[in-house]
Amino acid sequence: MGSDASTCSFCGVPQAPDVPLIAGIDGHICESCVQLASKVVGNWGRKRNLQKPLEKPPIPEEIKQHLDRYVIGQEAAKETLAVAVYNHYKRLKAESGELTQALGDNDTVEVEKSNVLLLGGSGTGKTLLVSTLARIVGVPCVVADATTLTQAGYVGDDVDTVLARLLDMADGDRDLAEWGIVYIDEIDKLARRGEGSHGTRDVSGEGVQQALLKLVEGTRVDVSVKGRRNQSEHQVIDTRNILFIAGGAFAGIEQVLEKRLGHSAVSIGFHAEPPKEPDPQVKARLYEHTHPDDLRQFGLIPEFIGRFPILTALHDLDEEALVRILTEPRNALVRQYRQLFAYEGVELEFLPEALSAIAREAIARGTGARGLRSVVEGILQRTMFHLPSMPDVVRCVVTEACIDGSGEIEMERKTPSDEFAAAQQHG
Ligand code: ADP
Repeated sequence: MGSDASTCSFCGVPQAPDVPLIAGIDGHICESCVQLASKVVGNWGRKRNLQKPLEKPPIPEEIKQHLDRYVIGQEAAKETLAVAVYNHYKRLKAESGELTQALGDNDTVEVEKSNVLLLGGSGTGKTLLVSTLARIVGVPCVVADATTLTQAGYVGDDVDTVLARLLDMADGDRDLAEWGIVYIDEIDKLARRGEGSHGTRDVSGEGVQQALLKLVEGTRVDVSVKGRRNQSEHQVIDTRNILFIAGGAFAGIEQVLEKRLGHSAVSIGFHAEPPKEPDPQVKARLYEHTHPDDLRQFGLIPEFIGRFPILTALHDLDEEALVRILTEPRNALVRQYRQLFAYEGVELEFLPEALSAIAREAIARGTGARGLRSVVEGILQRTMFHLPSMPDVVRCVVTEACIDGSGEIEMERKTPSDEFAAAQQHG
């Protein structure tokens, strides 16, 4: 690196009043070389990070076991997603040259992306599944609501904002964002309505489908993000490797399926007489029979459907599943409220019949598992208000009568002998 004291040892620019040089032990460096070096080192950092979450993607069975800890039921959807995610990252690894086991011939087969479409009613766990999945694999994940998106040029959230959020989730790490997962909820709301009947089209919904299609197929998007010192920075994101998962309730798809399945639908147990409200079990089985063509009839554009080759159905949750959701997951609602009461030094108990009644109430509200929290909150609210001013209460029991409002939460108070024992303990 032998250099003259007055030139940059890297690019050779001579020192001048507007070109200051930093002196090292054996040479000098100018400002633009410092900036270039910083960019290079930044890239090293990115590559290192990228290896971290994906070093060894878990195998499908491990992914499913993880999902089981947080998501109750929905076995088929869990297995499908576990395989899709595993294959996705295998494909990425192959692309980055880390997996080289070929088919025996010299041709490399290009594996296409396997985006997934989840069909399931509101509150059946679609968002929960995807966000849990992203946590397991260690990649950034964003959840976007299709109804808030607009095509470019319209007022509202441009589809590109989804990528800005993904980049934000990845702390500005572009490479990591490019390996992320995007979940687009309520995709069914983008369908153009009444295809084949009146030909009325929801132009903006179709426009958003087109805009999303571009992202899903793979494109390079200039995304503006808040950089350091709050200045806005531009980064180009390549969406080719982002895994897209779409979800929707597809309310009304029953009619499309019935038309297609016709008599066979009746023979495999779907209703002979159309009931006003479809039976949840029947609806779930109908979802399982959904073909891409039904989605086209429903109003999604064929190119869009083609980009989501994997369809999987989530069942509406029945009473038993809701009771399990209340009690089993790591952060189950019952555990959360028991914890809250424990902070007050109070033990909280839900009798089994009370749990079933809570589940039935949530089903009646038609919001699936999402309704559980508001039911439980409604039951416990008065008690949570009064409890902090009742230091002698040690235990609360929620009975079935509390759910329909015919009874109160039973409270146990410290007995005089308890207090005597406590006083003795304290000397
Ligand atoms: P969706 O996206 O299908 O409308 P979510 O995944 O947002 O529903 O579910 C709402 C909430 O209900 C979740 O945060 C979770 O607490 C609970 N939940 C829904 N389905 C399940 C399930 N299968 N297992 C455990 N919890 C669930």
